[in-house]
Amino acid sequence: MHQVTALPAFKYNYIWCIHSAGKAIVVDPGDADVVQHYLQANNLQLVAILITHHHWDHVDGLPQLQQQWQNATLYLPAAEQHKIKHAAQNYQYLSADDLITIPDLAINFRIISTPGHTLGHICYVAEDAEKNWLFCGDTLFSAGCGRLFEGSAAQMHQSLTLLNQLPADTLVFCTHEYTISNLKFALEVEPDNQAVVEHLDFCQNLRQQGQITLPTTLKIERLINPFLRCEQPQLQQQWQQTNAQNLFTFLRDWKNRF
Ligand SMILES: [Zn+2]
Repeated sequence: MHQVTALPAFKYNYIWCIHSAGKAIVVDPGDADVVQHYLQANNLQLVAILITHHHWDHVDGLPQLQQQWQNATLYLPAAEQHKIKHAAQNYQYLSADDLITIPDLAINFRIISTPGHTLGHICYVAEDAEKNWLFCGDTLFSAGCGRLFEGSAAQMHQSLTLLNQLPADTLVFCTHEYTISNLKFALEVEPDNQAVVEHLDFCQNLRQQGQITLPTTLKIERLINPFLRCEQPQLQQQWQQTNAQNLFTFLRDWKNRF
């Protein structure tokens, strides 16, 4: 049985650590010390590192981790290979629909290409009888989505549409704790959406108790995340947009100024 633990890093980041029987995988280790501390405290051996995109808060821990864990395999987006400095002896560049297996943890991941936040951004999906897990970096957040640093709104909308095809019970492991502020925006977009009201209350209670709001599920996101709700005709009408992509572009632009 695999466990997934959030390792808080920087101000609002989580480095996800998947572990089982003394072996561990980390996703987007922006801070090596945070990872090392957790591995040491829990007697875990790092066997693989998954990278979603090239931003510093997702990759800056690589050099230090690779010094310590020379046998760990690094997985990273092929399209961003020149932007990510690493010293891995074992590494694999990944593109859309690639499948990888990490034998030490008996876990497989399928790669989904999700340009938008960055052009080469990829997501990792683990799907089997036991789990549906999505590690989505800075593409999908709870009640929100990543900023468009490199890609277009059309690309991001298409990427989110792909992710939204996964099963409703998919657990969504986002990189950032932005849920509360995203939900406040969601409430501006849909003041009458009772699911948003309730989830905001739920998440505020979690935060007050010092707990995190992630992972979320696609089932929840389909109810509360305005960026996954652009297909809704009433919502398009409400904001005078003629189709889902126009509404997405409008909302993404509005969120930048929110
Ligand atoms: Zn980023």
